Amino acid sequence: MKRVSILGATGSIGTQTLDVIRLNRDKFMLEAISVGENIDSLRKIIAEFNPKLVSVKHEKDVKKLKDEFNDVLFTSGDNGLIDVATYDADILVTAILGSVGLVPTLRAIEQGKKIGLANKETLVAAGDIVMSHAKKYNAEIIPVDSEHSAIFQCLNGEDLKTVKTLIITASGGSFRDLTRDELKSVTKKDALNHPNWSMGQKITIDSATMMNKGLEVIEAHHLFNMNAENIKTLIHRESIIHSMVEFNDNSIMAQIGNSDMRTAIQYALTYPTRIEKNNPLDIHELSTLNFEPMDFNRFKMIQFAYDALKIGGTMPAIMNAANEYAVEKFLNDEITFLEIEDIVESRMNEHTVIEHPDLDTILYYDKLYKEDWRS
Ligand code: NAD
Ligand code: MG
Repeated sequence: MKRVSILGATGSIGTQTLDVIRLNRDKFMLEAISVGENIDSLRKIIAEFNPKLVSVKHEKDVKKLKDEFNDVLFTSGDNGLIDVATYDADILVTAILGSVGLVPTLRAIEQGKKIGLANKETLVAAGDIVMSHAKKYNAEIIPVDSEHSAIFQCLNGEDLKTVKTLIITASGGSFRDLTRDELKSVTKKDALNHPNWSMGQKITIDSATMMNKGLEVIEAHHLFNMNAENIKTLIHRESIIHSMVEFNDNSIMAQIGNSDMRTAIQYALTYPTRIEKNNPLDIHELSTLNFEPMDFNRFKMIQFAYDALKIGGTMPAIMNAANEYAVEKFLNDEITFLEIEDIVESRMNEHTVIEHPDLDTILYYDKLYKEDWRS
């Protein structure tokens, strides 16, 4: 029995992690979870999985929950996230959204915990600190993001020194067939309509702006210790090849499957072994796989991410914070789609980089660049 804890259990990755547990009751049990504000979903999760510890975002929700479920321990707020992250479990799945996951992830790492990492913003904001921490405390980080799970699987048993390039595939998002001119008038509803994947709102917008691929390039840099020059991206509209690794003998390995995040989640939970899973890809049904080069003029955000990675220091954290801020504004109907780019670009341009920032410096700037000020 593997004991699993989840930060962000009511979200897209969180509920799919629960699906994997539900289908494999003999292998996994749920220990501790955090949720945000979705208390109705939480009630159902508690009734079904009976976790020992539950953290909610707001203290006010704790009182009534305590009366309803008196054998569950409740906690709340930022400390609640840390309580869940450090709770005694075999693996922590970080399915929480945004850089709010950074501190709890670091606390879990300090306990030498195995992390199934979905929360990519944590690695973008503070990848150097997270990875050196993981090394120091001997904590294993297993990627849940489908591209990184693919690369992780392709690298199984390989020597990293023989890797030439990581090739990260991108579906192209909701607006892959629109020109920049057409992007001026797109709506939130259009943006949230992803052609291949059903995901949370923020990452669906990030896919449409291509920032998601940018975040993933930085994520890959930290997870696999590769330079920006050796991480390439490719538009692959079918989302069947989840990513590839090119080796020094010119062999290219790919991981292939249907667009089901549960494959990557399950692999993170069972690594280094595999267990059976439903919903297979019928390879005989596949007729064509398409590849197109990434267009860095059309998708400015991926260029910003490569720039941020090369500049280093506080810049990736600033880019991430500005993006989280701008996407939230877009989802609240306060700005247009293309203004997301404008905000990220102007906040990056006005920032003076600090080299080798410590955690407090990153947390300070993360907060500052999510505030309303001239943009
Ligand atoms: P989501 O919005 O569906 O879920 C986020 C979860 O985090 C929810 O449970 C929410 O309540 C909780 N949460 C958000 N803000 C919080 C806060 N301030 N305090 C406490 N809890 C909070 O998001 P998602 O799509 O599941 O994505 C989660 C993470 O996984 C993101 O970092 C995303 O980039 C990454 N990811 C998602 C997918 C996917 O298919 N959805 C794929 C790859 C990577
Ligand atoms: Mg991904």
